[in-house]
Amino acid sequence: MADGLDRLWTPHRMTYISGGDRPEGGYERPGGCPFCLAPQRSEPENLVVARGEHVFVVLNLYPYNPGHLLVCPYRHVADYTDLDDRETAELAAVTQTAMRVIRRVSSAHGFNLGMNQGGVAGAGIAAHLHQHVVPRWGGDANFMPVIGRTKVLPQLLGDTRALLASAWPS
Ligand SMILES: [Zn+2]
Repeated sequence: MADGLDRLWTPHRMTYISGGDRPEGGYERPGGCPFCLAPQRSEPENLVVARGEHVFVVLNLYPYNPGHLLVCPYRHVADYTDLDDRETAELAAVTQTAMRVIRRVSSAHGFNLGMNQGGVAGAGIAAHLHQHVVPRWGGDANFMPVIGRTKVLPQLLGDTRALLASAWPS
């Protein structure tokens, strides 16, 4: 999800999206796709927050804000219209749960929700659908990203995952 912003921290333990680990054949094939691989690995290293029947929730490795989640179908499909009815319904319900959990643990003031469909629309990994859930707080779009092109993230990904996973309804 390259956005041109520098980040002050990079101690994430996940390496699956880091450029040096780019798989042969790229991210677009299931064998190299981080959204196919993440649920096959075990928590907490995979940064998966919750698992549903048809979709799962994983932290974005390049968050815009702490708690930036991705809701993904297990199936390697690219387009929103590729989802069947059960996947569509669960993706919507899990997005609502994500908002409730984030509000409870971090008192988010607002959210950006959405899916980038296709590389031209900004999807970093266009081949596997993912719904962004980005918590927003008043003042989070301050001078640092706007002027300094640097995003400050006060919480490490592993800590964020633990916080959200512990608050997720079972
Ligand atoms: Zn995939």
